[in-house]
Amino acid sequence: MKRALITGISGQDGSYLAEYLLELGYQVYGLVRREPRTVRWLQGICERVEFVYGDLRDNTSLEGAFRKAWPDEVYNLAGQVFVPSSWECPSETFDINVGGLARLLQIVERQKADTRVYQASSSEMYGNVGGNCSEQTPLNPVSPYGVSKMAAHHLVRVYRQRGIYALCGILFNHESPRRGPEMVTRKITRAAAAWAKGDKTKLKLGNLQARRDWGFAGDYVKAMHAMLQQNEPKDYVIGTGESHSVTEFVTLVLKELCRYGETMHFSRPMEDFVEVDERLVRPNEIQDLRADCRMARAELGWAPELNFPGLVHIMVDSELAAAGVRLLKHAAAD
Ligand code: GDP
Repeated sequence: MKRALITGISGQDGSYLAEYLLELGYQVYGLVRREPRTVRWLQGICERVEFVYGDLRDNTSLEGAFRKAWPDEVYNLAGQVFVPSSWECPSETFDINVGGLARLLQIVERQKADTRVYQASSSEMYGNVGGNCSEQTPLNPVSPYGVSKMAAHHLVRVYRQRGIYALCGILFNHESPRRGPEMVTRKITRAAAAWAKGDKTKLKLGNLQARRDWGFAGDYVKAMHAMLQQNEPKDYVIGTGESHSVTEFVTLVLKELCRYGETMHFSRPMEDFVEVDERLVRPNEIQDLRADCRMARAELGWAPELNFPGLVHIMVDSELAAAGVRLLKHAAAD
């Protein structure tokens, strides 16, 4: 039975990956800093996952967790992922996102050098490129978060040159009902559920024109696993290949809301539901991010299963179910 250690198992990607690896018959170890059993989406798999306590910022605890897990594969998914927080706490962002990986790679090299390492790289490394980004597109990050991910990306490359099997998945934005509430997609679906429950406070957003390549996290974790099964370690871009604006995301969410109540129709959807708050507009904004994932399609045989409307659909349904809002009977039958 293969053994996998997942850092960030309590988060969106970690939980989907744990479910997937369990399905494949892995013994899964999850690195946690605190009691994970209260995390809603881990509850279905808690009994089958071995939790090991440790912190990416603390070498001794990390080493102890690694020894317990003694993994064939490590998936380093933990991190400080929110761009605005990386401006508030740049050094903490580096300590976790770069220092954490540095500690992990050193432990692997010293203790069990045949362990395969997956590193979560990010499309934020590209900055403002324009056009679809591939594995060859130059990196030009515009936030401390992006710079931290670029440093980690290069760290993986130099360890790979020393013979460690380590690679990076350059994942474009990937969302789900488990996405952190500070990220824009989840912020929107949560506000929509509150609206459906009667709270008509307008949702404050920043740049509505920003475009992202939004895919479904459940699809993307399959690509992470596929990468680590290749003979040669190589970095891969993972995305859908198309981008949509924040406005398009909101508009689709509001359409979905109509299935929940006759009163959920908006005369002027964006104006009634959203208000732009200039404080949320990012000074160093990336305007458009779009993946060129032809290499992953060709070499891993990977393709996303859920499209953009499908993603919005599951996010709204899950949010409204959690809020106790029921579908209209005729909408449910459609
Ligand atoms: P990111 O692409 O990793 O920064 O993911 P986010 O979900 O945080 O942001 C996606 C895009 O939505 C960015 O271009 C943000 O500037 C834009 N956006 C607009 N309004 C908001 C908001 O209120 N919150 C967040 N998180 N992003 C917003």
